[in-house]
Amino acid sequence: MKEKILIIDDEKDTLASLSFLLTSEGYDVITACDGQEGMDIFMNENPDLVLVDIRMPKKDGLTVLKELEKSGVDAIVLTGYSDEGMAIASLRRGAYDYHREPLEDIDVLIASVKGALYKRNLELKNKELLRQLEEMVIRDPLTGLYNYRYLHIRLTDEITRSSRFDHGFCVLMIDIDYFKSVNDNYGHLYGDYVLKKLGKIISENIRSCDTIYRYGGEEFLILMPETLKNGAISVISRLMKVIRDYIFDYEGQQLKLTVSIGGANYPDHATDRKELIRHADDALYKAKKSGRNRFCFD
Ligand code: GH3
Ligand code: MG
Ligand code: MG
Repeated sequence: MKEKILIIDDEKDTLASLSFLLTSEGYDVITACDGQEGMDIFMNENPDLVLVDIRMPKKDGLTVLKELEKSGVDAIVLTGYSDEGMAIASLRRGAYDYHREPLEDIDVLIASVKGALYKRNLELKNKELLRQLEEMVIRDPLTGLYNYRYLHIRLTDEITRSSRFDHGFCVLMIDIDYFKSVNDNYGHLYGDYVLKKLGKIISENIRSCDTIYRYGGEEFLILMPETLKNGAISVISRLMKVIRDYIFDYEGQQLKLTVSIGGANYPDHATDRKELIRHADDALYKAKKSGRNRFCFD
């Protein structure tokens, strides 16, 4: 996609010649005749770079620079020959570069534009990589659900919040029944498909304020803020029915399965993060021991 450059200058001739020049260099060019119009266009058009004159009516170039600061978009300043002080002031305000008008060497300006856009692209790429990295740190790669690491961060936050506002909340530990036999009878890929699908089914059947985590191999955990035991039990009943009725189908092979669930309530069962999980785990163990395909809260 073409990079977009906004030129703000009250000299019509300058606008026309710079516009022609940068368009012929392959850029998408938009123009404005004063600082105010320039900022309005900037907001609507999201350009990648701004070329801005310093002396302009309504809003001058230094004010434009100040307003651009937060956007992260670079500006190249165009100043008159007598404006050395302005040029320095604009660099102090964060301008990427400055050029004196009338321009003596067009290639120098083009090089400056290329440099600024190169920097902009690197910054955008870095930002995207950082976003991806932050996601990877808190997500399980197979299911895309939040992971064990993020659970402990969220759980700590939830305990702080609940104790401050005197709320209760619940955690549910969900474990697939006889999952090993899915792998044994249908293969590991089928098992992976079941984990992904089940994560999706659970996500679709909890409230938007609840969060789901892949706790371990075939164990999921749901954190339910501001929820009492009875509220959690109604979610569990719905969830268990949806899962029980669902027909898993991978490459034509169909399968039904069940889960067992253990629940714990803050602050009734525990007020400590690890103790709370231990309680849910113990309750899950009891559900398993008493026949699977059921839940236990005690
Ligand atoms: P139970 O009803 O007592 O829960 O029995 P189970 O077979 O579900 O439990 P068990 O703990 O014996 O087996 C869990 C299995 O989950 C064993 C392991 O190979 C499998 N597993 C763990 N992580 C993954 C994974 O990422 N993909 C697949 N396909 N299998 C996994
Ligand atoms: Mg299991
Ligand atoms: Mg297990």
